[in-house]
Amino acid sequence: MASAALCDFCYHQCMIHQGGRGICGIREYREGRVQTLGYGEVVANGIDPVEKKPLYHVLPGSRTLSVALFGCNLTCRFCQNHRISQGDSPLHPVHAASRLRPTFTSPEELVKALLASGAPLISYTYSEPIVWQDYMLATAKLVHQEGLLNCMVTNGSFSPVSLERILPWIDAFNIDVKGDEAFYRDYCGGRLAPVMDAIGTITHTPKKVLEVTTLLIEGVHTGAMLTMIGKDLARLGVKVWHLSRFFPHYKMADWPPTSERFLLEMLEIARGSGIPYIYAGNSALSEWEQTCCPSCGTLLMASHSYAGEAGLDCAESVVDGKCQACGEPVYGFFSNMYKNV
Ligand code: SF4
Repeated sequence: MASAALCDFCYHQCMIHQGGRGICGIREYREGRVQTLGYGEVVANGIDPVEKKPLYHVLPGSRTLSVALFGCNLTCRFCQNHRISQGDSPLHPVHAASRLRPTFTSPEELVKALLASGAPLISYTYSEPIVWQDYMLATAKLVHQEGLLNCMVTNGSFSPVSLERILPWIDAFNIDVKGDEAFYRDYCGGRLAPVMDAIGTITHTPKKVLEVTTLLIEGVHTGAMLTMIGKDLARLGVKVWHLSRFFPHYKMADWPPTSERFLLEMLEIARGSGIPYIYAGNSALSEWEQTCCPSCGTLLMASHSYAGEAGLDCAESVVDGKCQACGEPVYGFFSNMYKNV
């Protein structure tokens, strides 16, 4: 038996020694193979509006079964879900005093729950599915057998080989682009470059939907940083970019929330990137919740707010995936073309 083995799940590509764990604390080398600690131990499981992911161009108005296991390969200081993602949480399985009681759910049982819910898609979300991608993939294959869709909400820091493994099975991605390289180093314990590489691969793969989210921290993010990110995302072919307000969490619990004024300033900068669909998140700026045709300006969806669902029915404005007014293709999967996905 080799004394160490490589984990290829993320860009860290940890070499793990017998009985040891990788940087995420979730992948362990024992009994001659690298195993996922807490495989199948579902810690969050519920029905959400797909808009909450956020995914605005994936069957708008639909519900999704959201599911999470423990763990993450980054250490973002502002993580909203640190109690299920970070190893220093008393709820984490690698912490001796873990108090959370996850429920073991096999991929088959999870798909049964998805079918019973009537939701047309499942989302791997809340923590970082990259570190439990073996469970995600086992489930995703069964989900496709049922003709339903798989969505992954991720920090995007795949290894190239893991992205290649995952791509055939995941239909829609929401990937965080958190800041520039310095931001990843100082606030996340990660790197921007592998995330951008993954985005470029996904945008050049047919029949995938990709939406990008950037959480804006006032006093940290700047207009220059947003301009640079927007330029790179546009060059890579990104079509949907969500800019979301920061609220205090975890190691940044004493920071003030990002103001609507700052968000608006950043939204205007983002619009200048040429990315056709720009949205506001965690915000009351309702005009930035709308989807308009990038070609003729026709209002396609009046609101993606999941508090009230008015405006989510696009069956008349988007026909066969095109703007009814001018025939321009609308990016994404829509209910009236779902059967063609
Ligand atoms: S998932 Fe990433 S951080 Fe965790 S062991 Fe594997 S390569 Fe390392």
